[in-house]
Amino acid sequence: MAVDYIPEVAGNLVYRCINCGRIYDIYEFIYTCPKCGSLLKVEDTKFDRLKARSGRKWAEIFDARKMATHLELSGIFRFHELILPMLPIEDIIYLGEGQTPIVKANQELSAWVGAGFLVKNDGLSPSASFKDRGMASAISFLNHIIRIKDLECVLGICASTGDTSAAASLYLSYLPKSKVKSVVLLPKGKVTPQQLSQPLGSGANVIEIPGVFDDCMRIVEELARDYNVFLLNSKNPVRIVGQKSYAYEIAQQLDWDTTNLTVVVPIGNAGNITAIMEGFVDLYELHIIDNLPTILGVQSHHADPIVRWRDTGKYEPVKVSPSVAQASMIGDPVSFPKVKQLVEGYFSDRFYTISVTETEIMEGMLTANRHGHPVCTQGGESVAGLRRAINAGMINKTKRFVVDSTSQQLKFATFQQMYFNNSFDSAYGIKTKDELKNRPISMEADPSTIAKKLGLKRK
Ligand SMILES: *Cc1c(COP(=O)(O)O)cnc(C)c1O
Ligand SMILES: [Zn+2]
Repeated sequence: MAVDYIPEVAGNLVYRCINCGRIYDIYEFIYTCPKCGSLLKVEDTKFDRLKARSGRKWAEIFDARKMATHLELSGIFRFHELILPMLPIEDIIYLGEGQTPIVKANQELSAWVGAGFLVKNDGLSPSASFKDRGMASAISFLNHIIRIKDLECVLGICASTGDTSAAASLYLSYLPKSKVKSVVLLPKGKVTPQQLSQPLGSGANVIEIPGVFDDCMRIVEELARDYNVFLLNSKNPVRIVGQKSYAYEIAQQLDWDTTNLTVVVPIGNAGNITAIMEGFVDLYELHIIDNLPTILGVQSHHADPIVRWRDTGKYEPVKVSPSVAQASMIGDPVSFPKVKQLVEGYFSDRFYTISVTETEIMEGMLTANRHGHPVCTQGGESVAGLRRAINAGMINKTKRFVVDSTSQQLKFATFQQMYFNNSFDSAYGIKTKDELKNRPISMEADPSTIAKKLGLKRK
């Protein structure tokens, strides 16, 4: 095995304010710039040292680690140098995240969408969503701080549309109970029963409040500002660095060839799309890939502030209406300023957005599921977005597409059931189609009756 297979503890990480440029100690529990209030990002001030190696050499190292018998290096930390290069291997918390499959859409599904594409199924992560990528980096980092500072009873806290709390409480539950406590704030009645069961099962303190996600977020932000807690929302830039692994992984699965690639991503709080763009920029700067992909961001027309910004040039928070893509039902995305900078700096000619209706989201999910892809409603949103973009001629259908299915379909089984029962609240504005519905058929426990009903012919 190559000598550089095991990463060294290196680099110099700081928080840098994306607005005023001031830098701060990475070991501080801060999440916004104490001077100007803007977002922070994790920056390796010695990043350029990585350019001493060729892109080809980096690809070789990452490919070798993919086969790793070193468990800690087989997940997102096979990209250690690009995520948290100062993190000692012994502090890595690896629960199995960071190797999700890409699966080719079959012919019928491709024909329905209007182009061939690949689905990257991040639902096959430990807590069944991509949020595990960011929790693996954030909780590994917390584990490191707790060890070197010998801290006790650190409160890990987040607001959530469901999946953040599932991931946060899962990763926190792996650490010693004397060291961390886990608290999640959820909007009452706005997460599915499956999503609620996850933090409860991991033993977190689950607090439900009236309102929507944006209301939970405001409270958690105040707590993080005024009290000594470890914030686990994507405002914490240490989560973003872990989520960059989604981009690294796609590139690796395509053998580092991103020619003509478009990545389709649902947008909620915009942490995911930020991380994906940052991840591709890293690879591009190190010459591991030759070109940046096109990014297609998708939102429901019930929560589409970023689509409106792209269409009108003006950003304004929107008041959300109910969406089945609940995890992306956010009216004022925290990471919008980062998206804006990345688009202006790198993706101006390759960043598209599109909004889709609630009916299209459900049809996207159900149709994908009927063709071998257990995608969630946000995955359905991505599929529907790609379909609409192609039909509208916004994107050339000869491109290569990777569609992000951000979580596991089972988390959103309630919406499937509502569709089948035609029981959606009118606020969703969903029109159902009988051919997409399905129901169990009750019959007698008798083979010949069943055979008769199925129209079987005796051998
Ligand atoms: C969080 C989440 C999103 C939205 O991601 P952001 O980073 O908030 O834009 C989409 N889908 C699922 C399943 C999620 O959990
Ligand atoms: Zn600042």
